[in-house]
Amino acid sequence: MKILQSVMDQVKKRNPNEPEFHQAVEEVLDSLEVVAEKHPEWVAAGIFDRIVEPERQIIFRVPWVDDNGKVHVNRGFRIQFNSAIGPYKGGLRLHPSVNVSILKFLGFEQIFKNSLTGLPIGGGKGGSDFDPKGKSDNEIMRFCQSFMTELSKHIGADTDVPAGDIGTGAREIGYMYGQYKRLRNEFTGVLTGKGLTWGGSLARTEATGYGLCYFMEEALNAKGKSFKDTTVVISGSGNVAIYATEKATELGAKVVALSDSNGYIYDPDGIKLDTVKQIKEVERKRISEYVKIHKNATYTEGCSGIWSIKCDIALPCATQNEIDEASAKLLVANGCYAVGEGANMPSTPGAVDVYLQNKIIYGPAKAANAGGVATSALEMCQNSMRYSWTFEEVDAKLKDIMVNIYKTVSEAAKEYGMEDNLVAGANIAGFLKVANAMYAQGV
Ligand code: GLU
Repeated sequence: MKILQSVMDQVKKRNPNEPEFHQAVEEVLDSLEVVAEKHPEWVAAGIFDRIVEPERQIIFRVPWVDDNGKVHVNRGFRIQFNSAIGPYKGGLRLHPSVNVSILKFLGFEQIFKNSLTGLPIGGGKGGSDFDPKGKSDNEIMRFCQSFMTELSKHIGADTDVPAGDIGTGAREIGYMYGQYKRLRNEFTGVLTGKGLTWGGSLARTEATGYGLCYFMEEALNAKGKSFKDTTVVISGSGNVAIYATEKATELGAKVVALSDSNGYIYDPDGIKLDTVKQIKEVERKRISEYVKIHKNATYTEGCSGIWSIKCDIALPCATQNEIDEASAKLLVANGCYAVGEGANMPSTPGAVDVYLQNKIIYGPAKAANAGGVATSALEMCQNSMRYSWTFEEVDAKLKDIMVNIYKTVSEAAKEYGMEDNLVAGANIAGFLKVANAMYAQGV
């Protein structure tokens, strides 16, 4: 980084103690140095200085009352990062680790991911440090209503359209949507990931996991490989992991491991997805329940051990920085030749270096997991039309979008002299569209 070093220095100075945000910006700016060389007019117009600063950051108090009448106060956030190509769009994360650094890294990544979908959506992210674990249904409802009471003042179907993320699923979107409607007296597409009877899109639930597999199948095919007859390790057991397992299995792979924040299961016969769906989606229990039903499977406490399982393809679908350099080396040493990121920024910079040095087929998050937000944009489109497409129609559009993202990203990498480096390709291709729009719209 030469031309853009001052931009990075400013980010560090202006946002102290935000390591995740620094990490995400540094990776993108590294890739964009070649773009800055080619576009001095963008440097002069301050495009790089502006894109690293959120347009608006909202922080608010979220008071709620638990089932025993005790009052709790959480902190709510919405980072409206960039609206150059469309309304802010991105999920709401509910997890005790949530802070400004994590939401800024996620919001920043979202700008480029959303741009790559080819659809008109800007980048945003939000959430709260609320911990949904162990809360009753009524407590979740009261929290979501309180959260939306403030958030509703800052969002809108043409302004900012939040969606799910870690801790925010169909149930939470339902409670939040109900509150928005109550306060605003309007039935609009202000949130995506809605239920199917009230404006949701078919295939939205499956979209991130399915899209990840569509993207990786393209990347594998380009190297004469495919999911067929491979062994796959997937971390996580939420919506992304479950539907990645479903699609990878359909494409002929055997998925042998899944995890949650406590530990991982290994089933040498292949994960039985019906059991996982029952445990996670219906009973809302821990993944360790699986081994009570399938006796051949084992459960191990702790998460990082999952990367020591021998596999051909690894799909990290849990959370940021879950694969460090040592885990990446272990994967490679055990013969893994492809990594596709279902989670956002699941690999540390050291792990990414290991993939690139070893010529691993590597699908970076902002390209590989863009199917979720792309299908959210298709939900917005159906809401605007007051119409809905069939599952097959949405799934076909999703597949087209993922194939197209692979094409765009690999061509951008090639054009800028970094063939096969999909990280650089994704950063560059995602950036070009947004930069063009920002330049056209003036300072
Ligand atoms: N949270 C998802 C993501 O990281 C989906 C966002 C959305 O659908 O708006 O892309």
